[in-house]
Amino acid sequence: MEPHRWAVGWIAIAGIDRWSIARLGAFALAIGVAYAAWSYESDLIVPTPAVLRVHELPPSRALAPARRVVWIMVDGLRLDASRDMHVLNKLRADGEDVCARAEFPTYSGPNLVAQASGLEPAASGVMSNRYPAEVAFDSVFRRAKMAGLRTALITDDSDPGPTRTYASWVDETDAHDPDLPVPPAELVFVHIGYVDATGHAFGSVSPEYRAAVARADDAIGRIARTLDPTREALVVTSDHGHVDEGGHGGTEREVVRIPIVVWGAGVTRGTRAGRGRDVGPTIARLLGIGPLSHATGRPLVHANVVTVRQRAVARAAVRAASSLHVDHVPLTIPVTVVVLLMLSTASSRLVRPLIVSPIYAVVFFGLLLATHTLSFSVSNDPGSFTARVIALSGFAALAQLRVGGRSSLAPASLVTSLVVLGTTVAASQQPLAPTGGMLLFLPIPALAGLAFVCLVTAAIGRFNRAPVEARRQARDAGRRLERVRGGIQAFPDPGTSGWLACAAPVEGAPCRENRAQSSAPRSKRWR
Ligand SMILES: [Zn+2]
Repeated sequence: MEPHRWAVGWIAIAGIDRWSIARLGAFALAIGVAYAAWSYESDLIVPTPAVLRVHELPPSRALAPARRVVWIMVDGLRLDASRDMHVLNKLRADGEDVCARAEFPTYSGPNLVAQASGLEPAASGVMSNRYPAEVAFDSVFRRAKMAGLRTALITDDSDPGPTRTYASWVDETDAHDPDLPVPPAELVFVHIGYVDATGHAFGSVSPEYRAAVARADDAIGRIARTLDPTREALVVTSDHGHVDEGGHGGTEREVVRIPIVVWGAGVTRGTRAGRGRDVGPTIARLLGIGPLSHATGRPLVHANVVTVRQRAVARAAVRAASSLHVDHVPLTIPVTVVVLLMLSTASSRLVRPLIVSPIYAVVFFGLLLATHTLSFSVSNDPGSFTARVIALSGFAALAQLRVGGRSSLAPASLVTSLVVLGTTVAASQQPLAPTGGMLLFLPIPALAGLAFVCLVTAAIGRFNRAPVEARRQARDAGRRLERVRGGIQAFPDPGTSGWLACAAPVEGAPCRENRAQSSAPRSKRWR
């Protein structure tokens, strides 16, 4: 074999190794970015919020209008759906009917804490259902225990969240049967999870959702019949609503509007507006066990002076805290930008893939917008959200491949990573309790889209050094190199009547011989 053939073979082998490393690098980026998308929500949790430093008042049991409170939370119950509940409507007519606003993000975990502790997620730092431990805040359960009352919790939700959140302050827990008789504890929390589950599975305008709501109404009726409204009180709430197709977490009207109904001892009839964070202070006031140390919400029943004072202190602590912005950019993103910059500049010498590289990002973000996937309520359900993002990313990747070819995938990943970096930096400047809420969680679909394009790049991307290799081979062989078009380079093979040609996108391979051709190959055959 001639010496230059050895050289070509060596370059080819060395080239293959180098591009394998590039592929592995792109694959590692895809994994890292996918993890950043998955953990973004948990990373927003603030472990020690400033409000925890608020000085707490000693427990008291003075001026209790109700000797016992049963609090029913119907998870995922829309306000409009609650207006069709016959039993609940009767309780509304006899008690306090509150058209309330759920706290953002409209997840169950953050809203359970908001209601039981009277504290919005932006102040509690509980920004996700994935809060890893019991919360440290004062709560109706803690105040009840400290006042010597018994507490109980009933839930049909297999998720450990409701039972774990205040575990130390609950005397008895039943985590299986929502239709069990209510225990005689002075504070009973009944969590009904099947309405939310049905909303996710069938949507919130489906007959199945209506049936689940009717079943919850029956359960409320069963419990209300066991109570004496002259000595006991019933509080019925929802933690959030649902968008029509099922899902919550965002700030859509049907998601943030929730019912609160307060009925029985200590309640004055009427209609008013309120917030989810008002539930805890209301229960504490009814049982005479307040004020809740960290509560920024206000009682929906008559408040005493001490409650008003403690609320002012808690609100001042929250306002003074500097951690009210997100302040979070996953480290993975700048690392991804740098690695993709190295991969793209080291691989492609072609102008066209660079020019068309923004197509993936433009199409992907356009599709997010067109399909309402920007709404955080859509990203709440991990299964359907993943399927949706994969479909949109797939469309965007096809558009990128169609226009720019496989050589453009690495530059497209780089452009997307820059867009994601910009999005995350903008989100990090958002307040934890924004009015819109869309930008706060936009990094989640953005990171998912970036992970997808990195994965496609790792799988079929061309880290294109072929023109460079061809030039080197031609020089080594002492031959003339011609540029044809579409990035194809070819030179005449003096040993035959054909050409030795090198198609631009051939990854690290030596020039292929094309003896059959009597003229320079056309670009189409070699792309
Ligand atoms: Zn849910």
